[in-house]
Amino acid sequence: MTEFKSNFLREHNGRHQFHPMIHPLLSQANPPQIIVSGDGCYVTDLDGKRYVDGFGGLWNVNVGHNRREVKEAIIAQLDKIAYYSSFAGTTTAPSIELSAKLCAMAAEEDADKVLFSANGSDAVETALKFARQYWHLVGEPGRFKFISLKNGYHGVHFGGLSVNGSSYYRSSYEPLLPGCTQIDTPWTYRNPYTEDPEKLADMIATLLDREIYHQGPNTVAAFIAEPVQGAGGVIVPPASFWPKVREVCDKYGVLLISDEVVTGFGRSGAMFGARGWGVKPDIMCLAKGISAGYVPMGATVFNKRVASAWYKEVNPTGFIMHGYTATGHALGCAAALAALDIVEREDLPGNAAKQGKTLLEGLKPLEASSSIVGEVRGKGLMVGIDLVSDKAKRTPLDPANGIAERVAYYAREEGAIVRPAGSTIILSPPLVINEEEVAKLVNALRVAFVRNEK
Ligand code: PMP
Repeated sequence: MTEFKSNFLREHNGRHQFHPMIHPLLSQANPPQIIVSGDGCYVTDLDGKRYVDGFGGLWNVNVGHNRREVKEAIIAQLDKIAYYSSFAGTTTAPSIELSAKLCAMAAEEDADKVLFSANGSDAVETALKFARQYWHLVGEPGRFKFISLKNGYHGVHFGGLSVNGSSYYRSSYEPLLPGCTQIDTPWTYRNPYTEDPEKLADMIATLLDREIYHQGPNTVAAFIAEPVQGAGGVIVPPASFWPKVREVCDKYGVLLISDEVVTGFGRSGAMFGARGWGVKPDIMCLAKGISAGYVPMGATVFNKRVASAWYKEVNPTGFIMHGYTATGHALGCAAALAALDIVEREDLPGNAAKQGKTLLEGLKPLEASSSIVGEVRGKGLMVGIDLVSDKAKRTPLDPANGIAERVAYYAREEGAIVRPAGSTIILSPPLVINEEEVAKLVNALRVAFVRNEK
């Protein structure tokens, strides 16, 4: 560690700073933090300070850090073989076992087939490609368009960026895919027309209906959205929103893609986010929690409707070429099998629902006590603290003034890592979090907001 420090870091005011050649976004952080170890819900940085991990790595370390079971599964697989392709006539045992496991876990969603990849952006790309492929295979190649939600986040590849709902992420990479449009987000807090969640759900579902109608139903391939918007600031749609979306998609035969990269495997309090609304998507994008951050991993799960079109007995064209080198990576699949075993054995969706409620209740008083907190909202262990410059008007705080970063920095000094994202502070701790750790997070944030008022 001493050699690492002298080779790569310089000390400034008693803290270690990055060598500037690392990722440009990181060198903007001040002071950036280097995490060297973790256990359960805690991580330790290079300066030896221990923190409650209020962000779970990046929404993904659901089973907690340094879990023996996952490490042992990875080592056991390494002792056999790290990798062999799942492609031209070969595969490995863990990839078959994991496909079976995912189809069993998503039996309620009619899951039938799985395509593996290496991360969430790949899982989304696969979903979009296969939504189009489906329409080619069933003889309607004119269905190429995608509709998504404003403010949604779907990763960094060109397909995902094209359905991304925020120009902040999109604009420097345009032109993107043609035929991608966005409708409004069912965001009760920021909607100028109604505060009644059910009316809002109706309004947005009607917008979707109108958008499909306007685009021409026989040109629309799929609607894609996150069950709960994550990176966009933890936006939880009203109770009837998802069932209504399913209804509209069915009316026009449009495929429903649920981007479960964050919500999948318990984070929003149900095994899959859309299941929390009693809705069955046609395609689910999975990553993050699937392998809990131990090894990169992604998967796209298809229901019977979509997968049946791949087979020559149904369709003379059959499955069209697609696959990554990392598809079905044996280490990723072994890690995922071990992580998902923990998710089920320890009922992490149940714990996320229970601890998420405590976390939300603990942070709610900030709405009254802090002059800059407009709303504390969330579902399961996805919680957002919305920062405003004018409470009455609900004007979002300008992210450029760095207040979210300042509050996150104070929280860090109080022993908790949380994520400043635009005008929201986001929490998504490991799903194994307990009452004591929730209390520590709440306390660190309370102190951080008090310090911010001074
Ligand atoms: N979809 C959603 C909903 C996400 O939140 C993310 C990443 N935060 C992605 C896709 C992309 O995943 P990855 O960063 O693993 O490529």
